[in-house]
Amino acid sequence: MENLNKATAPPELNLYNSIPEHLADIPVEKLDSILPGPSLIYIEGNVSPPIFISILLHGNEITGFLAIQQLIKELNLTSRPAPRGIILFIGNIAAAKKGMRRLENEPDYNRIWSGGLLPEHRLAGTVLEKLSEEPLYAAIDIHNNTGKNPHYACINRTDPSYIHLARRFSKTIVYFTEPHEVISMAFSHLCPSVTLECGFSGDVRGLNHVCNYLLQSLTMPAGELFSPPSNKLSEIYHTIAKISVPDNAQLGFGNCRRNVDMCFRNDLEELNFTTVPTGTKLGVTRAKNCTLQITDNDNRDVTGNYIITENNALITRKPLIPSMFTKNRTIIHQDCLGYIMEPYPMDKQTGQR
Ligand SMILES: [Zn+2]
Repeated sequence: MENLNKATAPPELNLYNSIPEHLADIPVEKLDSILPGPSLIYIEGNVSPPIFISILLHGNEITGFLAIQQLIKELNLTSRPAPRGIILFIGNIAAAKKGMRRLENEPDYNRIWSGGLLPEHRLAGTVLEKLSEEPLYAAIDIHNNTGKNPHYACINRTDPSYIHLARRFSKTIVYFTEPHEVISMAFSHLCPSVTLECGFSGDVRGLNHVCNYLLQSLTMPAGELFSPPSNKLSEIYHTIAKISVPDNAQLGFGNCRRNVDMCFRNDLEELNFTTVPTGTKLGVTRAKNCTLQITDNDNRDVTGNYIITENNALITRKPLIPSMFTKNRTIIHQDCLGYIMEPYPMDKQTGQR
């Protein structure tokens, strides 16, 4: 029997002044046996101010958690101070237990950081209140994609220090302002802040990549982290619209069963970070009034700018660069099908070239 009380109890913030016992070895799905819920863990370092690192805001994205475990072991952090102080936030432990992005009856933990009335909003508010009292060196939020994407870093401001912090992870950078309720946006008001998208959850290349990045961030002399890396060339994209599907639409990919409402091309994820030409068929709609819904950053319906429906086929009206296209139906309904980006103009890229 499932313990419903536990699943629905309002999340309380748990505070730790050192690394909880067994954190480095526990499988992610058993994390709740040592941490009762969302936790803020202060890890002593030789240098301050500390770096804020957040992981498991989405319970099914475990690369950040694995990277922290590796870091604790590699740097022997249970018995030695870190090269620089770390404040670690571990988010949705209950969802991680079930391998889900979020539980059905709760908000997305990466959409609770700009106020609201739910207990999860209060939790986020408590974290921000605590951390706005002290100086922070940088904030790093670690995620995975369910669809095929390159590793990339996201920023919510285009100040040089933010761009350089992102550039140290990847030459592909995504600048976005919506959704604005994400943790990286909240921290972007406190210090240089970045979101790392590390490919598929648990993939070893993403894990090694983020481990190296964290190690570099913790050991680099002050200031160097925020100056241009030797190769200054970046591709910065700006997210301009979100692509959703109707709430109850049955979705399929490739050779779809007859009863699906929308059937997308099987290679949809291959389109991420490519320029999709005008006239490209993304899929077909089979139900009346069932089509893609595209909204811009001001939440205006801009579907008609990008897509036309011709004989039930969903066809692009202009060249577009998608990101985060996914074939994971749960994620599509909980979040979205993907985003549309455009290259961010070089003359706006302060600190670039
Ligand atoms: Zn995520």
